[in-house]
Amino acid sequence: MTDAEARLIEQARDKLGPKAVVTDPREIEPWVTDWRGRVHGAAPAILAPVSTDEVAEIVRLAAEHRVPLVPQGGNTGMAAGATPPADGSAILLSMRRMNRIRSVSAENRLVVAEAGVVLATLHDAAHEVGMRFPLTLGARGSCTIGGLTSTNAGGTQVLKFGTMRSLVGGVEAVLPDGSVHSGLSGLKKDNRGYSLDQLLIGAEGTLGVITAVALRLVPAIAARAVAWAGVESPMRALEMLRFLEARTASIEGFELVPQDSLELVLKHIPDTRAPLSGEHRWHVLIEATAVDSATDITAELQRLLEAALQQGIISDAVLAASEGQAEAFWKLRDSISEAERAEGQTLAHDISVPVADMPRFIIDAAAKVERAFPGVVATGFGHLGDGNIHFHVRAGSHAAPGWYDTEGEKITRFVDDLVTAAGGSISAEHGIGQLKREELARLAPPGRIHALRAIKHALDPLGIMNPGKLVP
Ligand SMILES: Cc1cc2nc3c(=O)[nH]c(=O)nc-3n(C[C@H](O)[C@H](O)[C@H](O)COP(=O)(O)OP(=O)(O)OC[C@H]3O[C@@H](n4cnc5c(N)ncnc54)[C@H](O)[C@@H]3O)c2cc1C
Repeated sequence: MTDAEARLIEQARDKLGPKAVVTDPREIEPWVTDWRGRVHGAAPAILAPVSTDEVAEIVRLAAEHRVPLVPQGGNTGMAAGATPPADGSAILLSMRRMNRIRSVSAENRLVVAEAGVVLATLHDAAHEVGMRFPLTLGARGSCTIGGLTSTNAGGTQVLKFGTMRSLVGGVEAVLPDGSVHSGLSGLKKDNRGYSLDQLLIGAEGTLGVITAVALRLVPAIAARAVAWAGVESPMRALEMLRFLEARTASIEGFELVPQDSLELVLKHIPDTRAPLSGEHRWHVLIEATAVDSATDITAELQRLLEAALQQGIISDAVLAASEGQAEAFWKLRDSISEAERAEGQTLAHDISVPVADMPRFIIDAAAKVERAFPGVVATGFGHLGDGNIHFHVRAGSHAAPGWYDTEGEKITRFVDDLVTAAGGSISAEHGIGQLKREELARLAPPGRIHALRAIKHALDPLGIMNPGKLVP
């Protein structure tokens, strides 16, 4: 621990009290490795404030002593953005104790939640007033509002409601000089120049510490219908989505699943079974919702599936007959990554290309990767309607145990080159963090890099906010 770190920790203890300062290495240890367990960091302390004033106090101390801070929520991020550097040169700023829901209003369709509120808790709070926060993802039991906002997270309802960027009504944050930006009014219209709120969304903790967020709510759903359909190709899958969208506004989930991924789930995940009999090379999971109990959403989806079947867009389909069956369909989709892990080593790429190009991209890119790296299996699954899929490359069964470390970088560069050539993004949902910073530097146009660096320097000239992340 450096002298500057020791002084900061001492002063933080004096000002915030002992509860806000953790220095026991056993308590720090679980929080210095990323969720996937691939990046290991170190930190001399965790500071855990309970109020915006306390966060401002910590940021002022960090600036005074020139000690960097790494903001952290649930530590479920996929780009190691919340993992401190391995040399222990930064202090972890845990936002998990700032976990109050400040207000929730069905009239304003707004909830104001502190950064450390866990997503599932927010869902419950919205539900209690007959409303819904329409963003969810697999880590909902641990990820926090601050982390979701800072990574501009997506999830499975982006098709209808957008990413965090379109759900955030305003942000309260402590900026790197210790001043507080208060943007929680939730105004729908506010044109006072640059939007600081939008700048902080997706900033991955590099421009300030988000302390609270105003989030938009929508009416709770009265019913949902979930279906599983077999399709011949990703092209047919997209055709199906457009077919549905032309006939109903109720579709909010549409996920692509290749047969290969389904087989892995059936092999490794207990209590799973294929929804359809017969061979289908690709599948789609469809969710339709209704806010009004007079709408028979099941009948509507049934009718649309029959029409699509008649037109040859899908080859078979089944509607979930109960909530339990609907959950079982979603489990098949949500378990793909876990099943891949059980099967062996997998490289994950969270990518996007223009929606209309995605079906062809999946087929072509998989063929090119499999040709260039014999023995691997490449496939894409996920949010087809958003032009975002998880393009995963699995090691062949005879791969050496260190395949991920020896081949990973080469394969990822190959995939990222294909994505860039297709006009896409090497990070659709997960951010840049520290894992994709080099690739961003290699592939982003100079204008983007210049702007990122200029904004970072303007707001954080001392470089105390999450250094080594996002900005190349
Ligand atoms: C099983 C699983 C499924 C997932 N599914 C999806 C998915 O479908 N879509 C998707 O987009 N993501 C998904 N993720 C990724 C992850 O859940 C999201 O990135 C989430 O937003 C991270 O929240 P967190 O609180 O854990 O943030 P952390 O991991 O703690 O932090 C993430 C980043 O935000 C910064 N940060 C955290 N809190 C603050 C704050 N208060 N102020 C400033 N900066 C802060 C950190 O410094 C870091 O850079 C998934 C993760 C898991 C484990």
